[in-house]
Amino acid sequence: MEKYYPVVIAGGGPAGSACAKALSDQGINALVLERQPLPRHKCCSGVLMGQTQELLKKYFGGLPPESVYCKPKIINSKNIIGWTEKDGYFVYEWEIPKDGKAFSSDFLNIWRNKFDHWLLTQSGAIVKERSSFAGFSIDDDKLKIDVKQGGTKTQLECSYLVGADGGDSLVRNAFDPSFKERLNDLVVYQVYYKCLDSGEFKEGSWNIFLGVIGDCLASIHKKDDLLTLVVGAFRMKGGLKGLMKDFEDLLSDRFKMKLSDKVRSEGTAMNDMFLRGDFCFGGGRVLLAGEAAGLFYLNGEGISVAIDSGYRAGSAIARAIKGKVSAYDLYSSEIDDIKRHVGLCASRQTLIMGPPQGGPA
Ligand SMILES: Cc1cc2nc3c(=O)[nH]c(=O)nc-3n(C[C@H](O)[C@H](O)[C@H](O)COP(=O)(O)OP(=O)(O)OC[C@H]3O[C@@H](n4cnc5c(N)ncnc54)[C@H](O)[C@@H]3O)c2cc1C
Repeated sequence: MEKYYPVVIAGGGPAGSACAKALSDQGINALVLERQPLPRHKCCSGVLMGQTQELLKKYFGGLPPESVYCKPKIINSKNIIGWTEKDGYFVYEWEIPKDGKAFSSDFLNIWRNKFDHWLLTQSGAIVKERSSFAGFSIDDDKLKIDVKQGGTKTQLECSYLVGADGGDSLVRNAFDPSFKERLNDLVVYQVYYKCLDSGEFKEGSWNIFLGVIGDCLASIHKKDDLLTLVVGAFRMKGGLKGLMKDFEDLLSDRFKMKLSDKVRSEGTAMNDMFLRGDFCFGGGRVLLAGEAAGLFYLNGEGISVAIDSGYRAGSAIARAIKGKVSAYDLYSSEIDDIKRHVGLCASRQTLIMGPPQGGPA
């Protein structure tokens, strides 16, 4: 007989951990399926902005332990510096007030593998790593979940499924395959270098380059003794490695930076659901949160909204289990402020150039 869990959450990132935390706060232990071995790396600049810090205090009882941060620990928003060929340097806005409330301008620099693992350990979830959500079917009032572990396929039963499995969500694809057909992928490539000379860039800053290399976004900032370089663009022929080379040449020729050994590289695909307001929050006994739902705030900042939507999804399920009401109705009626803020951020974003904004295709 299949093993039964009241709630199965696909994905052990911030959205999945926050969802599990809301459930365990109500005495329900969810199962988190995480595809990767833990702790896992995530392609990300790894900066906790002001709203994220507030949500961590609200839902997780405080900020993460010292072991999670890298140096410089604090990046003040005034030290996030944009640069364009035409205008030179300016202070780059990466977080705006939400519903009239402003947040701390001291942002925290973290390692995502350590931060996400800390969140997951705080969540109260039962965690199965190296276990991929692979599909689901509905059987009366239960969901049957297909799980892949290495070469083995198993099935679990649950009452609720949460898709917190990131931008390329399999839960979203299984729930409504039409989303996949109208997505534009924003592909991102990140490289960590040892740096011999920072050239024109001052310690503690985060530099953003706009429209410098075609329609590409590009940024650099320090994490301990490493410099992280990011380039991203809507999917194009030839991939991003050529753009990264152009970016490295720009840093060396124009800004006198000397890079040495490449320590690590990673890539990911985001998508443009947030730019088009084309969200997928699920339906019935399937809810989606975080990037899987299509949620980002300003300029691709997404940890805050992943935690907030994940916690609200878990809280709605807990109330549905106890009160025999619809989890989806509760969840969808309580996220208008999130949708509104995603829309406001999309209208003010300056990082991502490419397919036009507008309503769902
Ligand atoms: C280059 C870059 C820089 C960024 N910088 C920042 C930043 O500085 N600050 C910020 O706030 N945001 C930043 N973001 C955005 C942020 O990384 C995401 O919005 C955030 O991680 C979303 O959280 P999530 O839990 O929804 O998804 P994820 O963090 O992607 O977690 C999803 C999890 O699901 C797992 N998974 C996927 N498929 C399956 C499956 N089939 N079965 C089981 N598990 C599965 C994945 O392995 C992963 O662990 C950045 C994004 C990029 C690309």
